Amino acid sequence: MSYYYAYFDVKIEMKSDAEQLISYVDNKFDIATHYLNELDQIDYQECNSPDRLRLTHFLFEHLDAGLFLVRNSAEPPLTYCSFGGKIIFESSAWAPQNITKLGNSTDRVLVMAEYQWRGHWLKGLFMGYRGSNHINLINIPLRDTFSFLDDENKAFRHTQIRLTNGQTVLTIGHFKGELLDRIRVYSQKYPFYIKADIAKLRVLEKLQQILPITVVISILVFIGLVFVIRSWYNVRETLVYQLNKSVEKNEFKPYYQPIINASNGHMIGVEALVRWIKADGTVIPPAYFIHELEQSELINRVTLQLLVQIERDIALIFAKEPFFRCSINIAPQQLESDQFIDQLEQLAEVGFSFNQMGIELTERLPITDLAKAQFNILRLKSLGCIIELDDAGTGYGGTSYLQELSLDVVKIDKLFVDSLEVTPDNTPVLDAQIQMAQKLEKAIIAEGVETAAQSKLLLSRGVNYQQGYFFAKPMPADEIIEYYKQLNSDQQSV
Ligand code: C2E
Ligand code: CA
Ligand code: CA
Repeated sequence: MSYYYAYFDVKIEMKSDAEQLISYVDNKFDIATHYLNELDQIDYQECNSPDRLRLTHFLFEHLDAGLFLVRNSAEPPLTYCSFGGKIIFESSAWAPQNITKLGNSTDRVLVMAEYQWRGHWLKGLFMGYRGSNHINLINIPLRDTFSFLDDENKAFRHTQIRLTNGQTVLTIGHFKGELLDRIRVYSQKYPFYIKADIAKLRVLEKLQQILPITVVISILVFIGLVFVIRSWYNVRETLVYQLNKSVEKNEFKPYYQPIINASNGHMIGVEALVRWIKADGTVIPPAYFIHELEQSELINRVTLQLLVQIERDIALIFAKEPFFRCSINIAPQQLESDQFIDQLEQLAEVGFSFNQMGIELTERLPITDLAKAQFNILRLKSLGCIIELDDAGTGYGGTSYLQELSLDVVKIDKLFVDSLEVTPDNTPVLDAQIQMAQKLEKAIIAEGVETAAQSKLLLSRGVNYQQGYFFAKPMPADEIIEYYKQLNSDQQSV
C-alpha cells in the first residue's frame, strides 16, 4: 500500500512540475512574440554600424529577453545581423523539417538551430517572425528552467523540453537504473511538450520518507477496523441472544393504529405494529430489532404470537363490527416460505379466524420468486384474509407486484402523502398511484396522514381510507378498545 502511495505521490509531483515548466516556457514565448513585433519596427538596412547601434539599444531596452537578430530579405538567407556583428546559421537550419510553425503560415516559427558566432559553433532555440519590414529572430535562452527541478530530483529524473516536430530544446537531469514511468505533458498554447522519465529509485526514496507515517496510519486504521467489527459483532450477538430470550418470554406485543374512513369518521380497521415490551416496561419500536428478527426464523414465531394476541386483544371489536379488519405486516421471505404458510393454515385449522385479517406485504424488500409468492397469496386468501401492498411505490415492486399478485389493497406510503404538504397542487406521483390503484380496482389506504389539510386533499382525490398521527398514533390493546368505544359514543351522540 505504501509503495503505491509513494508511486502516486511521485507521479503527481512529476505532473505538477511539468505543468509549471510549461507555463514558464509559455510565458517566455509570449514575451518573445511581443518583442519580435517591436523589433520589426526598428530601422534596419544592411548590418552597418548605425544598424548595429540600433540593435544594441534595442537589446538594452529588452534585457529580459535574449539575443535579437535581423535580416533583410535581400541579404543571404542564412546570415543575420546581431548587435555584435553577423551570425551565420548552419545550412539546413531552416529546412522545412527543422522548423515548427506557430499557427498556419511560416511567418512565425520555432527552430532549434546551430549557428556560427565569432568562429564558434553554438546551438539554440529561436523564434522567427517574417515582419512587414524585415525578418526578425530572437534567441530564447531556457537555461534558467533548471531551477524548476531541485538538485535532489536531477539524479532520478530525465526531463526534456521538445518541439512537436521532435527537436529537443533542452535536457535536464539524467539518471541511471531502471525506468519506472514516462509522462508527456503538452502546452495548450505553443507547439512543444515536456517529456519526463522517472527512475524507480525515486519511488523507493519517497517510500523511505513516508514509510514511518503510512505504517503508523495503517496500524491505526487496522486497529480501528478490528474494533468496529468486534463491537458490531458483539452488539449483533447480544441482540440476537436477547431477541431469542424475548420470544421465549412472549415479550413481543402488537400496538394498534386506527384506519379511518375520513369521509364519515368511522374506524374501519387497525394495523397491528409490533413492539418489544421489556420486563421493566420499556417499549422498544421495531426499528431497533425488526431487521434482526427478519434475518432469522424468529420473525415467524413473533408473527404467530402476534396473531394469537390480536385475537384476544380486539375480540370485542371483531364481534361488534363484522367488516372490521386488523392487518399485520409480513416480510417477503415469510410469504415465500411454505413452512410459514403451513403454520398459518394449521392455526386456521384449530379455529383461528382469518376473515377479519389483512396481510401487509412490504415493497421495500425484494421478492425473489414472484410465482411462489402469488401461489402463497392465493393460499392465504383462501383462509379468508385480504392482501395489502405496503409502502407502495417506494421499493422493488414497480408495477409488477400490482399486475402479478392478487392484491386487494394498495397502501400509499407516507413519502407521497408528505408531498401534499409541500406542493398541494402538484403531486403527480401521488396522483398517478391513486389513478393506477383505482383503474386496477384496488382499495386505497393512505399512510402517514399528519394534518387536516392532507386528509382533506386526499378526500378530494377520492382516498377515503386514511391512517396516521392526525387520527391516532399506534397504541396498546386497552387504549384501542377505549378509542373505539369513545369514537362510537361520539358518533351515536351526534
Ligand atoms: P410500516 O408497516 O410502514 O408501518 C407504519 C409506520 O409508520 C409505523 O411505524 C407507524 O407507527 C408509523 N406511522 C404511522 N402513522 C404515522 C404518521 O402519521 N407519521 C409518522 N411519522 N409515522 C407514522 P412503526 O410502528 O415504528 O413500524 C415501523 C415498521 O416496522 C413498519 O412500517 C413495518 O415495516 C415494520 N413492522 C412493524 N410491525 C411489524 C411486524 O409485526 N412484522 C414485520 N415483519 N414488520 C413489522
Ligand atoms: Ca405496514
Ligand atoms: Ca407502510
